[in-house]
Amino acid sequence: VKALILNLQRMSTEDGPGIRTTAFFKGCPLACDWCHNPESLDPRPRANFQARACLGCRACAGVCPNGALPPPEVRPRPDLARCEGCGACARACPAAALQVQGVEWTAEALVTELARDRVFFEESGGGVTASGGEPLLWPAFVTELFERLAAVGISRALDTSGHASPGALVRAASRSDLVLLDLKLFDPEAHRRHTGQDNRLILENARRLAASLPAGRLWIRTPLIPGVTAREDNLRALGGFIAGLGPAFGRWELLAFNNLCREQYLALGRSWPYATERLLAPDELAHWTEVARGALPDPGRVVATGPTRVE
Ligand code: SF4
Ligand code: SF4
Repeated sequence: VKALILNLQRMSTEDGPGIRTTAFFKGCPLACDWCHNPESLDPRPRANFQARACLGCRACAGVCPNGALPPPEVRPRPDLARCEGCGACARACPAAALQVQGVEWTAEALVTELARDRVFFEESGGGVTASGGEPLLWPAFVTELFERLAAVGISRALDTSGHASPGALVRAASRSDLVLLDLKLFDPEAHRRHTGQDNRLILENARRLAASLPAGRLWIRTPLIPGVTAREDNLRALGGFIAGLGPAFGRWELLAFNNLCREQYLALGRSWPYATERLLAPDELAHWTEVARGALPDPGRVVATGPTRVE
């Protein structure tokens, strides 16, 4: 069983407790219009062009067997509709301006790589987080990965959109120490408008996880997107739902909007509707945190993280 991994992020402190290595899987069933990881949406390997690294040498001209690269006189941004991710352009490029994103791993090889960080996990109470994209687009792989990590004593967290087959979700959750579940928008129509899917399956899966996980092992995460998810009606409705999840619910994390992904959209040749959106001001983040706290019987379970702007 193999899966496509976009990248491994070492020394992460934002994807569960302790120091973690996060494996970002490629492919996602949602298409959030604020997505902070746009290269992860496509479940196939694809070329990526970093214009700032390009030397203009045109060593890449003519190497693409699929005609995805333009002729020498044109800047070499790949046509992703034609790209098959073969890697010929990346091998030709002397500046790593062209790279292929999405590397195929076996679970066995990935565990060997992840286990190199074991000392950090042990010192900090951390472990490995499967994230994405959506790791459950690769359900058999995630099950095998978590079983192999458990066999060598490495803690596991599953970071999921919840838009996944219930069987695959419960199977992966039963092999993890923690589930990080994104709940973005409570209104189904707004959810469909901003993510491409309504939230019925996600909310049903949240209840399934709550019924199957031990106490405190389900953390909810909500990105605070200005004017979209960061609204009083949305946070109050989400809070009411979360309050009903029972003992499995451990923490509600509010993730402040960040705009670091602007360069990634440029590299993909895509526009991003939030390109000019500013970070939240510190008092805005404090306000949304208070709104969320007011929606839970135990306000201490709400935690806000992420950058705020300097005025
Ligand atoms: S080979 Fe690399 S550095 Fe040279 S033109 Fe192509 S993308 Fe730019
Ligand atoms: S990865 Fe292969 S198919 Fe894609 S642009 Fe590069 S040479 Fe063409």
